[in-house]
Amino acid sequence: MSRGSSAARSGTGVSTSAPSSSTALDTLPAVDLNEYQAKELFAAHGVPVLPGMVADTPEQARAAADRLGTAVVVKAQVKTGGRGKAGGVKLATDPAEAEQRAAAILGLDIKGHTVRRVLVTEASDIGEEYYVSFLLDRSNRTFLAMASREGGMEIEEVAATRPEALAMVPVDPLDGVGPESAAEIVAAARFPAEVAEAAADLLVHLWEVFVAEDATLVEVNPLVRTPAGRLVALDGKVTLDDNASFRHPDVFASYVDTETTDPLERQASEKDLNYVKLDGEVGIIGNGAGLVMSTLDVVAYAGERHGGVRPANFLDIGGGASAEVMANGLEIILSDPAVRSVFVNVFGGITACDEVANGIVQAFQLLDSRGEAVTLPLVVRLDGNNAEEGRRILAEAGLAGVEQVDTMDGAADRAAELASAGASGPADRAGGGAVAGGQGA
Ligand code: GDP
Ligand code: MN
Repeated sequence: MSRGSSAARSGTGVSTSAPSSSTALDTLPAVDLNEYQAKELFAAHGVPVLPGMVADTPEQARAAADRLGTAVVVKAQVKTGGRGKAGGVKLATDPAEAEQRAAAILGLDIKGHTVRRVLVTEASDIGEEYYVSFLLDRSNRTFLAMASREGGMEIEEVAATRPEALAMVPVDPLDGVGPESAAEIVAAARFPAEVAEAAADLLVHLWEVFVAEDATLVEVNPLVRTPAGRLVALDGKVTLDDNASFRHPDVFASYVDTETTDPLERQASEKDLNYVKLDGEVGIIGNGAGLVMSTLDVVAYAGERHGGVRPANFLDIGGGASAEVMANGLEIILSDPAVRSVFVNVFGGITACDEVANGIVQAFQLLDSRGEAVTLPLVVRLDGNNAEEGRRILAEAGLAGVEQVDTMDGAADRAAELASAGASGPADRAGGGAVAGGQGA
């Protein structure tokens, strides 16, 4: 799963989303669901969907169509839009045809995603196609409803070519979306009068999904009016906020597909570390999400002076920087072949810097005993509670490849410089534990 800008993640390239140049917030974890999972959540909260079943083989698709007993649509379950255009959505009038369609769709590559599962769902006749969504609008620090009579096509296209056809209505987080504000959204989108009431009702239920499931995006495209005048969500997209995962252990356990998660991220989460893999070269360990996020920004900024090196990850070891936690964190970062240097940025609070320093020393011993000796340069910045003592402990330990820098900016700059210098191993560097830049130790 790629982690792009928040605009990409929200599923809308619409200009209301934060620009892609924003930094740390973009690394906040989010979980995109497959269509069938989104529809399960829709159904649980009263958003109308058609019955369907997933299938991993053509035979299962045939059986599913047989059970449904209607004409069906066989739909690729990959986490990207535009499946229809890519040949990943096909109508089948009987079970034998469903099997053939599934055989053709399974294994397809759609925008870099291999199809391993299809949704076999009751086919619908289409009168009109609309678009509705709720999303977290980071740049305006609010929630936003978007709705359009022109559904079916990619909403980015509508936003770009016919912006007047896309209604955008801010949603007050305290008021939420009740019948009245839902009616306002429907009116702003100029939905036809005959569906206005049903559309408003559907929006209230869709908002329930957004709030109850801690989503950052819920999107229906197309929302279909059948020739009989019924509204159904024919496609669904949901992005969940991973920061709220503890509130939905069941949903996350069943929906986060481990096979597409980065193996190091999986390993980290098994060790209860908050780790996100990024694309750069400077490994980052910090304590506390706020500090780690600002560290990402400072490293990205420093990296511009050193050949464009960038943060390689986000790793928050939280409050307890014990030797084991530090060893686990280092182990994960050192397993990433892209990492050229590591920046350990710790602000001592409840866990004081001397404990952290001892943690680092012991982590080196622990990794050494596991046969995973640290061979990359490490820049350590300790500040806050017992910083002086921590710096002394680290300096005296004389760990190979470890440098201390007292300021966050200075340390980020040094880490970026070392990453940029790249291939040279710790053997090339003199004096482990040397203290650069200050009266510190
Ligand atoms: P996407 O291309 O990834 O957004 O996948 P969708 O689920 O939105 O399907 C793409 C298009 O296929 C829709 O906009 C519809 O036009 C069409 N489609 C999907 N399901 C049905 C269906 O049950 N009946 C008909 N007639 N068309 C469908
Ligand atoms: Mn769609």
